Amino acid sequence: MIRSNYHTHTFRCGHAIGSDEEYVLQAIGLGLQNLGFSDHVMLENITQENVRGNFSARIGYFNSIRDLANRYQERIKIYLGFEAEPLKEYFPYYRSLLESGTIDYLILGNHCTLDKGILRAFFGKNTSKKSLYEYRDTLIRGLETGLFSCIAHPDYFMDSYLKWDYHAKKVSRDIIKAAIRYDVPLEFNFALIRRGKVQKGKELRYGYPYLKFWEMVKKYNAKVIIGLDAHSPDDLISDKNDEGYRLVNQMNFNLIDTLPFKKVR
Ligand SMILES: [Zn+2]
Ligand SMILES: [Zn+2]
Repeated sequence: MIRSNYHTHTFRCGHAIGSDEEYVLQAIGLGLQNLGFSDHVMLENITQENVRGNFSARIGYFNSIRDLANRYQERIKIYLGFEAEPLKEYFPYYRSLLESGTIDYLILGNHCTLDKGILRAFFGKNTSKKSLYEYRDTLIRGLETGLFSCIAHPDYFMDSYLKWDYHAKKVSRDIIKAAIRYDVPLEFNFALIRRGKVQKGKELRYGYPYLKFWEMVKKYNAKVIIGLDAHSPDDLISDKNDEGYRLVNQMNFNLIDTLPFKKVR
């Protein structure tokens, strides 16, 4: 079992359910010592319905999580963070959130890029080689900032890239090596394990984690942390996580279960 989960969403993103307190209660029931909230980051001037809350929702988020942290401090440690895309336009904002102590940490969720004010999702039905390298470069640029404490689902690209070819391997290797260089753990994400295997090209598999990517992680002995990526309080205690725990045991990773938060000054 685990002692910590740092990947927890809230209803504010529009695709998660439950109250903030229900997540805390399920986490206590599961026996967690550390619960980190990392809802999809709310960004000024960006409206993305059912992807992230509007910028104005951040205040309620900060207040609610800090209040829960106080009220439950005898039973569990609660941290406040965001899952944030490494968008360079927002690096100063991220830095100010961390420097001021408004939030405790960021996890890097490389879902999209920002092109002249327009958000563009990395992966859809067809993923080109070009977007694969763009994914890698965006992710590594994020690591270079020192703002991110963990890489959420680093193999996210394999959800829509259907071949484990030269390019997929190269991008994977470069990401894993950068994670080691900047000492940022890679998150073995359980969200799509709970959803079950799906047909991807010729393989029946999870969108991610993509196990060949994780064999490479093991080979390089990079640090790994489990992320439940809860979008409902019950995701924390779901039986469907058992398959994830089994895979993690089988892979025998260099596993950490407490996330050191990057210090920003
Ligand atoms: Zn989400
Ligand atoms: Zn994510």
